[in-house]
Amino acid sequence: MAAIQQLSESTYTFLSIIDHTLDDIESLCRLDNGHDRRVPCYGLGSLEIVPLEVLQMIILRLDIQSITHFRRVNRRAGLVVDQVPQYKQIIVHAPASIRGCLSIRTGFSFSCQDLYDKLRTTNCDSCGDFGGYLYLVTCRRVCFLCFTEKTDYLPLLRSDVIRKFGLRPKYLAKLPSFKSVPGRYSSRGIQCRRRITLIDHSAA
Ligand SMILES: [Zn+2]
Repeated sequence: MAAIQQLSESTYTFLSIIDHTLDDIESLCRLDNGHDRRVPCYGLGSLEIVPLEVLQMIILRLDIQSITHFRRVNRRAGLVVDQVPQYKQIIVHAPASIRGCLSIRTGFSFSCQDLYDKLRTTNCDSCGDFGGYLYLVTCRRVCFLCFTEKTDYLPLLRSDVIRKFGLRPKYLAKLPSFKSVPGRYSSRGIQCRRRITLIDHSAA
């Protein structure tokens, strides 16, 4: 996520610097929220007996990937999801967080409630300073210094994890991981052309 500067207790601004984070990548998956305004033709089947408030509470606890799948069932499902207040707030104010986690395939690892709660915090989970970035592998808020210098936020190749920690390949599947998206990264704009699987360093 892009660099944000805290101006006062409740005022923030996006910095006009190109730091080549995930939301600078144009090929991230697109969101269709709000594009289809047609009236739904079909209902939710057996889920129709569940009160809307209860359904929204369940959706809130689903992971982002499952919510996205559910939205695609039909227009009624899309409407129900889009009316969940917390989800609506994320789509309005931080759509890149959803586009990002779906693109790197970590959307199944944290819930809509987790993401909403994290977006409402301000401090880096590692050092406590203001954190203007989200580490979307494990949904942690992080500051620029920790993001670029702490090994916790420097994910590893599978081969590196095996060599560095001596883990057997069968254990790697249980560690938080993600698929990179081709593009330019870091303040030096290093070009990465392939999609590679990277593993969370702190979990390894
Ligand atoms: Zn920090």
